[in-house]
Amino acid sequence: MAKKPARQKSKKTVKLPRKQAGKQAIKPWTRPEIEEAFRRFQAREPHPKGELSHVNAFTLLVAVVLSAQATDAGVNKATPALFAAADTPQKMAALGEERVRDYVKTIGLYRNKAKNVVALSERLISEHDGEVPRSREALEALPGVGRKTANVVLNMAFGEPTMAVDTHIFRIGNRTGLAPGKNPLEVELKLLEAIPGKYMLHAHHWLILHGRYTCLARRPLCESCIIADLCKWPEKTVAA
Ligand code: SF4
Repeated sequence: MAKKPARQKSKKTVKLPRKQAGKQAIKPWTRPEIEEAFRRFQAREPHPKGELSHVNAFTLLVAVVLSAQATDAGVNKATPALFAAADTPQKMAALGEERVRDYVKTIGLYRNKAKNVVALSERLISEHDGEVPRSREALEALPGVGRKTANVVLNMAFGEPTMAVDTHIFRIGNRTGLAPGKNPLEVELKLLEAIPGKYMLHAHHWLILHGRYTCLARRPLCESCIIADLCKWPEKTVAA
């Protein structure tokens, strides 16, 4: 098997010592810098897609509920069989909690999630004619659905320009200085204010993909980052 090449530092790479970097205040991004970052994200991936498998708005909602504190890849392993058996609230409610639990038992917190999936299916039937509602308030009233899940469903199923702040976006917002905030809501509101409207529909996916594949939590790949020159993180590796 071919040996993976060792990661090499460019000779022109400068990394500030952690202590020194930690003391530096992060400069806010300017409007043109934000515009430029999203122009690059769009040029690289004009139509970014979420990575959670689903076949309709209902299965998207279920997949997002199942993905809390779990990876998309882990959820995608379990959901094809579940959605083949139940792709509507009626079929999911008929399946019942015990059988749903069997389908999702490889996913963390599966007992509680199976309970919520059946309960939200019953609620969709009794209160929304079996349809996924296009309203934040109605979505957040469903069992197991919080603000982040509502944002994902509003964005992906209904094309609303929402910003679902997950662990990746929370990290990027704070690390790069694009949208510093103490909690996901603060970061979400800052991103909504900062990102130009024309980029908002896909901004959520661009940032998630950037965090998942480039701006990694433990060892960000700054040397291959398309916004490295714009990023304000004092600890990034930068071309001198
Ligand atoms: S330069 Fe590094 S820290 Fe900054 S956004 Fe890119 S990968 Fe993340």
